[in-house]
Amino acid sequence: MADTMRQQARVPVPQQQRRAIDEGAPPLISYVLPVYNEVAGIKRFHEELTAATATRAEFDYEFVYVNDGSSDGSLGVLKDVAKNDPRVRVMDFARNFGHQIAITAGLDHASGDAVIVMDTDLQDPPRVSLDLIDAWLDGAEIVSARRRTRRDTPFKRATAHTYYRVLRRCAEVDIPVDTGDFRLLDRRAAEELRGFRERSRFIRGMVASMGFEQREVLFDRDERVAGETKYPMRKMLRLAADGVTSFSTVPLKLITRIGFITLVLAMLGIVYAVALRLFFPAITVSGWTMLMVAMLFLGGLQMLSLGVIGSYVGRIYHEVQQRPLYIVRNVISHDED
Ligand code: UDP
Ligand code: MG
Repeated sequence: MADTMRQQARVPVPQQQRRAIDEGAPPLISYVLPVYNEVAGIKRFHEELTAATATRAEFDYEFVYVNDGSSDGSLGVLKDVAKNDPRVRVMDFARNFGHQIAITAGLDHASGDAVIVMDTDLQDPPRVSLDLIDAWLDGAEIVSARRRTRRDTPFKRATAHTYYRVLRRCAEVDIPVDTGDFRLLDRRAAEELRGFRERSRFIRGMVASMGFEQREVLFDRDERVAGETKYPMRKMLRLAADGVTSFSTVPLKLITRIGFITLVLAMLGIVYAVALRLFFPAITVSGWTMLMVAMLFLGGLQMLSLGVIGSYVGRIYHEVQQRPLYIVRNVISHDED
């Protein structure tokens, strides 16, 4: 199933995103909306979202809510919303699979000419999604909403600020700072993103690694309207670790580097121990030299070997991620203009 999907995603669809626009039919904009225990705010969110999109009647809309195993009655509210609005679809997860997986499921089911991913706690303001659409109409294929300011706790602000910058330094792809998962993907980019099937998912990194014409729109991040964050420390740390380990082998390279340093220090230690034994035999405890030489040598060698093994583990890791080898935007042939 995943394989056929990957194959489909690989087939280049020339200029499909302009198809609807060219034919005069209204382009379809899909919203992917992950929901986890948002019972208090979800109705208001949908009202604000539909109010914002109503000001742009030139598009058709589709709202794909993903209920990520909520235990607080969010599903009931979503069913209600779906009953009153035929553009709404609700995917109901059998349990909580996490934010990144919820987004993935929504992306798999969104069929729009452009797909917008946003949080459902009104921290990503619906009106900003219209700015993303404008940038898309202007030719951008991926538009990320970047936080100019955010109204979270000082702790969250400080950790997020530092994390994004550390990640940027060690990651192999250029992951934009202060950008979450609030973004618009053109149909082609969304199709390609569906081809990334790795389990530990850091979607903003995958998007950054895809290429395409990427643009940023600045916005001020609001406070949560209701409830509290669904990213407790534990989940946040896991996401942070996923970000580093999916897009960088810096930790593995660190082992090799430490291995080299240990081996060099061990060699110096060995020279010192042997010199002491040769030139000052009177103060050298019997058996100490042999013990030191063996211990230092083995220690250094082990560290270095770990680094070597690590570099192979890194390769295996890259292989099992099974990311697309390349991404084709378009194939130009001679009978097209
Ligand atoms: N969310 C989800 N599954 C989870 C955690 C969060 O679908 O396991 C949703 C949540 O309902 C919200 C979005 O992901 O729409 C972002 O979560 P939250 O606002 O708690 O994160 P924060 O803004 O505090 O980083
Ligand atoms: Mg939030």
